[in-house]
Amino acid sequence: LVESMAVKLAPRIEAAELTLDNRVPQHMPLVSGDPDLLAEVLMNLVANAVQYTPAGGLITVSMALDVGSHMVGISVKDTGIGIPAQDLPRIFERFYRVDRARSRASGGTGLGLAIVKHIMELHGGRIEVKSTVGAGTEFIVWLMEYESEQGG
Ligand code: ATP
Ligand code: MG
Repeated sequence: LVESMAVKLAPRIEAAELTLDNRVPQHMPLVSGDPDLLAEVLMNLVANAVQYTPAGGLITVSMALDVGSHMVGISVKDTGIGIPAQDLPRIFERFYRVDRARSRASGGTGLGLAIVKHIMELHGGRIEVKSTVGAGTEFIVWLMEYESEQGG
């Protein structure tokens, strides 16, 4: 999944002079959900990381299993412009965009994260964001681990 996304975004990553570090291990637990929709989530998060990270930045994608809760966390982390604390609660609203980002970015409608949130809700998942202005942003999406013995 991360490979195919990296291939799709490669020209943009290169044009923006960014590095994409794929730290997703070879053998990760499966998550239950719609593969197309979950790919859409990842695409949106990585596209944002590309859009809001100045040249020379680093985007890291990683994944971890929380053994206790059987949740799988997928993290997309960048070294970009960051999001001011007062804007964080609103970034998942439709059409909401942070001002300084709007001036830098050429395009964008402010729908990406609203779609991400919607898809996560459909999957009973959760999304977490940590950000520091001028230092970078990390989004972590939490999804249920796929449990084959339940037949689902
Ligand atoms: P679209 O995704 O529809 O093209 P968009 O990227 O502006 O437009 P969202 O993806 O919903 O919309 O993001 C909302 C706002 O959150 C962005 O405009 C930007 O201000 C901020 N944002 C999102 N991701 C990041 C990030 N990785 N770094 C800094 N700011 C971000
Ligand atoms: Mg976006």
